[in-house]
Amino acid sequence: PLSAAADSSITPKPKIFDEFALTDRVGLVSGGNRGLGLEMALACCEAGARVVYCFDLPEKPSDEWTASRDYVAKLGNNSRLEYFSANVTNQQALWKKTEEIGDIEGRMDFCVAAAGILRSGTDCLEYPAQEYREVLDVNTNGVLFTAQAAGRQMSRFGRGGSIILIASMSGSITNRGHAWVSYNSSKAAVLQMARSMACELGEKNIRANSLSPGYIYTSMTAAFLDKQPHLFDVWSSMNPLGRLGRPDELRGVVTWLASNASTFCTGSDIIVSGGHHSW
Ligand code: NDP
Repeated sequence: PLSAAADSSITPKPKIFDEFALTDRVGLVSGGNRGLGLEMALACCEAGARVVYCFDLPEKPSDEWTASRDYVAKLGNNSRLEYFSANVTNQQALWKKTEEIGDIEGRMDFCVAAAGILRSGTDCLEYPAQEYREVLDVNTNGVLFTAQAAGRQMSRFGRGGSIILIASMSGSITNRGHAWVSYNSSKAAVLQMARSMACELGEKNIRANSLSPGYIYTSMTAAFLDKQPHLFDVWSSMNPLGRLGRPDELRGVVTWLASNASTFCTGSDIIVSGGHHSW
């Protein structure tokens, strides 16, 4: 029969919402101190992840993160949000800390590499080497080191896993006046990084996908909008929905990618941009 429901010999599948559940899963999120990373970490906790570890630069988490941890404690689903201080550009530190997490938790199921920085320099012919290196170090190297740290634990425990690399629409398209050469190059590399990791890790049932948001209102974009308020209308008009996205509009896609609802999705770039596709 065409429909599984019509075939009585087939054991019923879990209800679709059950496939999105992250019950007992353990995950790692970089850039989880605020913005999109924190919103995605929270969504994974709400979906039941046993514990989500956020790592970031500062010794102390943001007030936003602390409030989120308190919120998670009240969810009543045994989920936990934890924090540790680490710079994503330090490969050895990330590997070591994530191995310790593996020792404690005995598993690693998903990872969201969301730490990133934006430098707006647009003069590509004069762009300073130091700043170019700095952006690539966080947005490209840091994403790889985060994915490696989690992927090594996924490989160690042999349960497979889902690696989610936060790229950007800026990895595929650009705009006159916003042709951020360092940022855009760093994000383009992430798209191919996801495909390469997917190819290599598929035999271990470790999936790797990139997630490309369009313009979302966070502290990263607010830094521009505060100085140049007219950009709000410019950016809003770039997509058919005519507005900026909200961080919570990534909750569904990140839980989908982390969960059993996306088990045949790997090596893909998932675009969440309000339809912003061309420059
Ligand atoms: P935010 O600036 O709000 O958050 C960035 C996070 O990255 C912060 O938590 C920051 O830590 C962390 N971070 C920066 N550098 C490092 C580092 N070296 N080591 C560890 N953590 C670091 O940005 P968004 O939430 O907007 O962006 C999140 C991701 O989404 C980025 O990769 C960004 O490029 C991408 N993105 C964002 C879009 C948008 O419109 N907002 C659109 C497309 C992609 P701390 O809190 O300590 O500063």
